[in-house]
Amino acid sequence: MSFVNIAQQKQIVSFGHAVLNPIGENRGIYFPQNIERLPEKVFATKDFQTIAVETLNSLISGELPRERLKSMVSKAFNFPIRVQSLNSRLHVLELFHGPTLAFKDFGARFLAECLAHFNKDKATIVTATSGDTGAAVAHAFHGQPDIDVVILYPKGKISKEQEQLFCTLGDNIHTVQVNGDFDACQTLVKQAFSDDEVTNTLNLNSANSINVARLVAQVCYYNALPALLDEPIDRLFVPSGNFGNLTAAMIARAMGAPINHLVAATNKNDTVPRFFLDKTWYPKETQRTLSNAMDVSKPNNFSRILYHYQNELDKLFDEMSAISVDDQRTCSMIKYFAKQNYMVDPHTAVGLRATQCVELFSDQSNDMVAATAHPAKFADVLEDILKQPIDRPEAISRALDKPNLSDSLDNDFDDFKDYLLALHSSH
Ligand SMILES: *Cc1c(COP(=O)(O)O)cnc(C)c1O
Repeated sequence: MSFVNIAQQKQIVSFGHAVLNPIGENRGIYFPQNIERLPEKVFATKDFQTIAVETLNSLISGELPRERLKSMVSKAFNFPIRVQSLNSRLHVLELFHGPTLAFKDFGARFLAECLAHFNKDKATIVTATSGDTGAAVAHAFHGQPDIDVVILYPKGKISKEQEQLFCTLGDNIHTVQVNGDFDACQTLVKQAFSDDEVTNTLNLNSANSINVARLVAQVCYYNALPALLDEPIDRLFVPSGNFGNLTAAMIARAMGAPINHLVAATNKNDTVPRFFLDKTWYPKETQRTLSNAMDVSKPNNFSRILYHYQNELDKLFDEMSAISVDDQRTCSMIKYFAKQNYMVDPHTAVGLRATQCVELFSDQSNDMVAATAHPAKFADVLEDILKQPIDRPEAISRALDKPNLSDSLDNDFDDFKDYLLALHSSH
């Protein structure tokens, strides 16, 4: 038993249970019960696969044999991670070399491996996306027998490239554009999980970052930092929306990854940076920005961060900072790095800009920014800003030519419920 329900701490479940039932009693989400430091010798191997297997084995308390984990890791993480050093003190951790060109491929592909392992019946995955989860989940599960995938996304609020990457697959992948924002999509998904008729009829699962399979997968690449760079990191900047990636970095830090301070970089959706300023939790209406995958004003994972710190805010504020970056500054970062021949997508640009924020400035610090998406995934946005054509890799140009197969729904739970039940009866 290795995962605790943070809203009902008496409920402690196995990894397999948490993967199949991501929401527990009292609508709580799960968090690793014990986070233990990895032995130094594991980091010293400087081998991604070894570090990933040991990370997972530790977080899931040995629930799966190492051999099994090894094969899941090699299937799920079958693409490279690269570090680009822009200068001797600024490094970019490129997490976007997977099939859908965003870091979400790590979590989605590992989740697909976990469901293939644990799930015994036909299942329906229902998930909301602010852009990149959809593509990663759709590709990870496309063609998997016995799994239907339903993906909700905010209509007109994601890039053409993002949309075409996952709305053109068909088969077991069903995509729905919702008249509303990402938070509305996320609410519809939550309602589906708490509706008795839906949950009694369909074997539901969520691929959102609330699923612990995604969370533990993301810890692997931060723990693998010693395999990627020889120096320890003073400040790690993570472009954040739903705060899953930052939560993973926090766990890695607690397991001994060489990261001193963590910085959450958000766009104008600044619920967390404002919380760091005045300790009040006051989400505002979600605003559209250039970094649309981070257009989230009620980040689901923040409760995990508070749980980890046991609400000791002083300690949290000591070890972590949060900075909000507006679109204008995001644009100027994109232009600045383009002049140096390094293209960055708007999400990564938010992280890069945060490194320059005055209150954190120090000439001495060794900074790393997590690059969460490939620039080509936001080619239309970059072309607008830079007034120059951006190369699109094969994966994107192929998808752009295919018809969009999405259905449309209003932001209304009854309509969504009918849609889910109809999907079930069509099999
Ligand atoms: C999802 C996403 C983010 C935000 O990650 P969270 O784990 O939700 O904080 C940042 N950048 C890109 C490109 C993303 O797709």
